[in-house]
Amino acid sequence: HSSFTGGVERTLVAVKPDGVQRRYVGQIIQRFEKRGFKLVGLKMLQASDGLLSQHYRELVKKPFYPNLVDYMTSGPVVAMVWEGLNVVQSSRRMVGPTNPAEAPAGTVRGDLSLHVSRNVVHASDSVEGAEREIQLWFEGKELLNWECYDHSLTY
Ligand code: ADP
Ligand code: MG
Repeated sequence: HSSFTGGVERTLVAVKPDGVQRRYVGQIIQRFEKRGFKLVGLKMLQASDGLLSQHYRELVKKPFYPNLVDYMTSGPVVAMVWEGLNVVQSSRRMVGPTNPAEAPAGTVRGDLSLHVSRNVVHASDSVEGAEREIQLWFEGKELLNWECYDHSLTY
């Protein structure tokens, strides 16, 4: 039985339409599994303009916003909720900086993308942001609590 002592968080990670098109879904899931995070929600969906305007509510006034919506609605997205110690910050580090030109090798964006407008993956940037985004993208019943029996991964 795991003892949840604090520091266990959830975050929203999404493979964006370019990542799905380029067949990177499995590879991205594998990175999070290998790290030891627990998958508690997973679905493929076509993002709507309404969902995106809430998801990217700080960006709706930006000049690139219409292109961002075209990109994010160009095909299906694979949305996931990952759980674990410090998962919000760790996911951001695994994904890399917003602009792939600045993303180190070894990060998802640094390994798989070139341009900020096609950067393969989303990850929430704060614990509060993650809670908001998870509620936006998932219904409560779509998130599953399951027991981890591998003690090397139990915190
Ligand atoms: P992140 O995805 O790293 O959290 P932001 O929240 O700042 O980055 O931006 C959300 C998304 O908007 C980015 O991942 C990228 O797809 C797009 N975006 C951000 N800045 C630009 C830009 N200058 N030009 C084009 N697209 C951008
Ligand atoms: Mg962001």
